[in-house]
Amino acid sequence: MSEATHQQAPTDQAQTWRDDFSRVLSPVFGSPQLDLVQGEGSYVWDASGKKYLDLLAGIAVNALGHCHPAWVKAITEQASTLGHISNFFTSPPQIALANKIHEILDLPSGSAVFFSNSGTEANEAAFKMARRAGGGGRPFIIAVEGAFHGRTMGSLALTAKEAYREPFAPGVPGVVHVPYGDVEALAAAINDNTAAVFIEPIQGEVGVRTHPQGYLKAARELTTKAGALLVLDEVQSGIARTGYWFAHQDWSIGEGITPDIITSAKGLGGGMPIGATITVGDANTKLLEAGQHGTTFGGNPIACAAALAVLETIESEGLHDHAADINDWLTPQLTAIDGIGEITGQGLLIGIELLPDAAGEIPDSKAVAARALEAGFIINPVAPGRLRLAPPLTITEEELAPFVAALPGLIAG
Ligand SMILES: *Cc1c(COP(=O)(O)O)cnc(C)c1O
Repeated sequence: MSEATHQQAPTDQAQTWRDDFSRVLSPVFGSPQLDLVQGEGSYVWDASGKKYLDLLAGIAVNALGHCHPAWVKAITEQASTLGHISNFFTSPPQIALANKIHEILDLPSGSAVFFSNSGTEANEAAFKMARRAGGGGRPFIIAVEGAFHGRTMGSLALTAKEAYREPFAPGVPGVVHVPYGDVEALAAAINDNTAAVFIEPIQGEVGVRTHPQGYLKAARELTTKAGALLVLDEVQSGIARTGYWFAHQDWSIGEGITPDIITSAKGLGGGMPIGATITVGDANTKLLEAGQHGTTFGGNPIACAAALAVLETIESEGLHDHAADINDWLTPQLTAIDGIGEITGQGLLIGIELLPDAAGEIPDSKAVAARALEAGFIINPVAPGRLRLAPPLTITEEELAPFVAALPGLIAG
C-alpha cells in the first residue's frame, strides 16, 4: 500500500475518540498512547496519518507483521466458509492446526492440544491439569519470582508480582514462588506434595530475562524425581520468536529437555485470539477427562485457520532463521551505543538494559519510549531501566536501521 492510500481521519475525529474512550471504556489500561487505524507489515498508522515502526507487534503477537496476505486470506476464506461452531463439533482448521503443532514439536503419541483464546486461559488449563497430576491430591504448585502467567485468578496466582495479586485476595491457594535462578531453592521447595512447576523459559514481563545456564534442566530433573509436572509457559517466547518454534528447544536454554506441558498464545494466532495447552506424552492426556474443562470459542475455525497460516508462513518464509539473523545483526549495534548495557533475550525477543547515568540514576525507560513514539517508533518500557523489543518476525534490517540510528538520541533525551 502506498503512503497516500492509508486512511486519514479528520483531526477532530481523534479527539472525539479520546473523549469516547474515557467515557465508554474501562480505565484499566490507562489512557491509550495512540489511536491506530491501519497497519501493513512492520508499520502502523495513527488517525492523523502518522506512520510508526512497530517494534512491539502487539506484545509479541503480530508474528507476520500487520495484515500479512497469507493471514488475511486464511481468515477471510474461513470466515466466508464456516465462522464458528461449538465444541460439540470439530472443523478442518482445528484438526489441521493440532496436527501442525504435533508436527513442529515432533510430539510423541498420546500428546494432545487443548485450544483456548488467550495466554491466561492456556495457563488456566495447565493449572487445572496440575491439580489432577498424579490423580489429584498434590496441593502445591511452584512458580518463579519475576514470572508473569496471566491475569485470571489461577494464572494470577502463578504470577509473581504482589501488586497484581494483592487487590484480589484471597487468591487461588497452593502456589509457592521460589527465588529466580536458584536451583537449590527450587530443590528445597519440590517434594511429594508438588503438583507442578511453572516456568517461562524467558521471563518476558520482568524485562526479558533468561534463567542461569542449567536451570531448566535442573527443574526437569527435580520434577521428574518428585513425580511433578514441568509446565513451560511459552506464551511470549514461542512461535519462532527466539529462532526456534519454542524457546526451550534452543539448547542454550533448554539443554534438550522435554516438558510435560507447553502453553502458547500471543504469536500463535498472529493477531487472532488463540491459546493452546499442549500436553506431551501419554500420561498427560489423562490429566483432564471428558467434561472437566471447556470453552465456547476455543478451537474456533477462524482462529485456527489464522494460526495455521502463521505456522505455515513462518516455515515458508524461513522466519526462524530470520529472527536469529536479525538478532545477530542488531545486538552488536545496540551494545555499541553509549548508555546501553547488556542485551538480553534471543532472536526477536530482546531486552535492552539502560545503564545508570553519571549520577548513578537508572534512566527512565518510560521517557525513552515516549520520545521513541514521538519519533515514530513503538517500543516498550518493560521495566525501570529496561526496554523490550518484540517486532514482527518479518522485520528487515532496512526497516530497523533508522531506529538504530535514532536510539542514541532517544536515550540521551
Ligand atoms: C502475555 C503472557 C501471558 C498472558 O497472556 P494473555 O493472552 O494476555 O492472557 C501469560 N504468560 C506469558 C509468559 C505472557 O507473556
